[in-house]
Amino acid sequence: MTEKKQFRAIKGVRDILPPESAAWNRVEQTAREVFEAYGYGEIRLPIFEETELFARSVGAETDIVGKEMYTFQDQIVQEIVFLREYLRQSDVYYEPGLKALIRKVEEALTSAEIPKTEDNTRRLNRLRELSNSPVGPPQDKLRRQNVLYEIENMDLGPSNALRPEATASVCRAYIEHGMHTRPGNVKLYYIGPMFRRERPQKGRYRQFYQIGAEVLGQSDAPAIDAELVEMLLHFFARIGLGEGSAAGGVKPPLHAGAAGGDLKVAATGLTLFYNSIGCRECRPSYVAALKAALEKVKDKLGPDSQRRIEANPLRVLDSKVESEQAVIESLPRITDHLCPACHEHLAALKQQFALRGIEGTENWRLVRGLDYYTRTTFEITAPGLGSQNAVCGGGRYDGLVELLGGPPTKGIGFAIGTDRVMLSLAETGRLADTAACDVFVTWMGAAAQGHAIRLARKLRDAGFRVEVPAEEMKFRKSLDLANRMGARYALIIGENEIAAGRYALKRLADAVQKELTEGELLEFLSGDRVIG
Ligand code: AMP
Repeated sequence: MTEKKQFRAIKGVRDILPPESAAWNRVEQTAREVFEAYGYGEIRLPIFEETELFARSVGAETDIVGKEMYTFQDQIVQEIVFLREYLRQSDVYYEPGLKALIRKVEEALTSAEIPKTEDNTRRLNRLRELSNSPVGPPQDKLRRQNVLYEIENMDLGPSNALRPEATASVCRAYIEHGMHTRPGNVKLYYIGPMFRRERPQKGRYRQFYQIGAEVLGQSDAPAIDAELVEMLLHFFARIGLGEGSAAGGVKPPLHAGAAGGDLKVAATGLTLFYNSIGCRECRPSYVAALKAALEKVKDKLGPDSQRRIEANPLRVLDSKVESEQAVIESLPRITDHLCPACHEHLAALKQQFALRGIEGTENWRLVRGLDYYTRTTFEITAPGLGSQNAVCGGGRYDGLVELLGGPPTKGIGFAIGTDRVMLSLAETGRLADTAACDVFVTWMGAAAQGHAIRLARKLRDAGFRVEVPAEEMKFRKSLDLANRMGARYALIIGENEIAAGRYALKRLADAVQKELTEGELLEFLSGDRVIG
């Protein structure tokens, strides 16, 4: 007998179920509304791209590219690689293996699953020749070497990766579609899953979700950076994290406190940190000074930081290791090494923050993990999250578009970690409960089902969440189910109600009941509308 396997979501990924998913939708919907009010349009991006795109933009030395990406090749390429390894190792069945390999390469070339280049065609022909050449012990070894040489040098096409972040894709799309010819700055936002093979823990998943935005164009005016942060704080206020937001709800109205008032984030536990990490002019000399200083204190650092001195010294500043903190505080600071242009940019950014009532904390250690950042970097932390408390990170990446083969372009953006936003809202008691059902229609008798169906359709059309039992239920059982489902009202339809032309609407929280005509029913419910 086959054993019944119980499937579970794999490590680091998870399901988001109702009613939690409704709160997610509200948060994402609020992002759409706020970002669109600031002139951003949605870009829907592919979930996977060429691995090389991320390696080039995020940086080959980063953790993300070095060890966290989910990379893969098409099935047929995997099969070719498998057969190649088989030929490398196997003596027996060598001939059928070679024939199978040739068939796979032919198939892959015909279907263009591997590049149809002249070189690939030539190598395939050579493989055919080798396969037809006579087999004998002395030639055998040489023949095998030649076969492996041809297949190893074949261009099997690029490897792909599930996206670990989306800025690289946005830049790729910006270039691919010639978006630089659009008038003004190009302002885009995206919402969706990202993938990183990290060690799972609270607030850290292998499939996680981001809401991000990017501004691409010719200007790097600090007002662009400040407006982007203003929009972020505006969003956080609207969802209930941040000053001016009504505690207890994810949908406070856009009132003066949220939009017009000062965006004092610290008051509610959100903290904005910002920094300038310089540009191509001044950063290299700072990194050199930092590296030299790190070499001197190497013995006082742990293995991770020691490794980073060579590969990515800026990342040492990210260290949370307690024993390293005093050492890090004594290291040279980027702020003292900025070139005049970067210095001015940072000063102007502070003025732009002040103009908008944005309060943040300058933090020279905020370097962010990715290679492409220049000048402005920022991060927002939220309460209730333990060590993974960053809910948003972002910064400027002038030069990234050029690095990816596009025209000289300035850019800035951020990514909000939606999983952590939802966790913080939940842990700080700011997630409004949403009833899964507004009206549960309790019907009794064949005639009542028709009324129930008609009324349910009307109420649903008016935007209410309505539940109609598919089968007739006993009155008590039906009310009991309505209560357990968390319905706000039960609408009772039986023979008496039909005869009287008035339906009974029972509020389940306090059992208060009203007799209403159809018209009155809609009017009453609309007046009492709480759509979460
Ligand atoms: P990054 O793209 O690394 O700058 O991350 C931006 C934001 O995404 C962070 O501030 C987190 O809120 C969120 N984030 C990054 N990695 C993860 C992860 N593995 N799980 C959950 N959220 C994440």
